[in-house]
Amino acid sequence: MRLLFFGDCMFGRGGAPFDENPFRYVGSFIREADFIFFNLETVISPQTLSEAHKEPKTFNYQSKGKQLKMLRNMTQATIFASIANNHSLDYGLHGLEATEEYLKKTEILFNQGDNPVTQKGITFLSATDHCGCNNLKKWGENVWVIDYNNLEPVLRKIWRIRQTAPLRGAPSGFIVFSIHWGSNWVTRIPPKIKQLGRALIDAGVNVVFGHSAHHVPPEPVEFYKGGLIIYGLGDFVNDYAIDPDFRSDEAFMCTISGGTDEVPFDLFLEPSTRYAARPPSAVLNKDCPECMLQHYDVGRVALVPVVRTF
Ligand SMILES: [Zn+2]
Repeated sequence: MRLLFFGDCMFGRGGAPFDENPFRYVGSFIREADFIFFNLETVISPQTLSEAHKEPKTFNYQSKGKQLKMLRNMTQATIFASIANNHSLDYGLHGLEATEEYLKKTEILFNQGDNPVTQKGITFLSATDHCGCNNLKKWGENVWVIDYNNLEPVLRKIWRIRQTAPLRGAPSGFIVFSIHWGSNWVTRIPPKIKQLGRALIDAGVNVVFGHSAHHVPPEPVEFYKGGLIIYGLGDFVNDYAIDPDFRSDEAFMCTISGGTDEVPFDLFLEPSTRYAARPPSAVLNKDCPECMLQHYDVGRVALVPVVRTF
């Protein structure tokens, strides 16, 4: 089986797209994957949602969803989207329901609250540790919000899922835990995030799929006790101003392939200078995506570079 992970996706603002199909640039990776995972960091609604639904927060995203339809049409793979992040409720409950409806129609899987979704042997969960809002309670009633001061319920939940799944590492018992964690600009992985990642693996998760920083963190991945912790891959699609200090125009895709043995991972990190809504002059490493690896502690990984031509 081949699992493909890519980072945060903001497809546009106010319904206007940055790019109608940002996935076309990485088509070969998408077509080769059996399972695809990403963080959907926007509300999706084919009809533009009115301002009246907006939550009082600084950034509220909505997109019409065409990019997801394009992705769906590119592959037969099982696709899991995380909808637990600081934009889940940008347009209130109405927006979240519109997103869920669109995903169902597009046959993209997601989980609601702390209820896992399982398909073809992969169990998927998603949670966030922040909402970027002043109403974390409302978020917590609708998506899974992690409390670092009380991780017991999360770990117990994973442990229960693990108990009911067949042997760890077997295809029918592979758990991916997606987590939107940490602040936006990180110079090191905070200890509480490391501890959570490792505790999730200890509890029975196979891959912790973390995201949120909007750039590749200094240590993007960690192998831990036969599991993989992805601390962040950067954003796959956004239109943010580039911060050269954080090299925020850089992003990775991560491919895991392997079988059913105890250590099922072969990991490739894919430097994918970001694709959408970028004038060529704004891409720092467009001529040398391989150079990206020099800036990150990526451990024992192999590299498959792809040069995107603008
Ligand atoms: Zn976020």
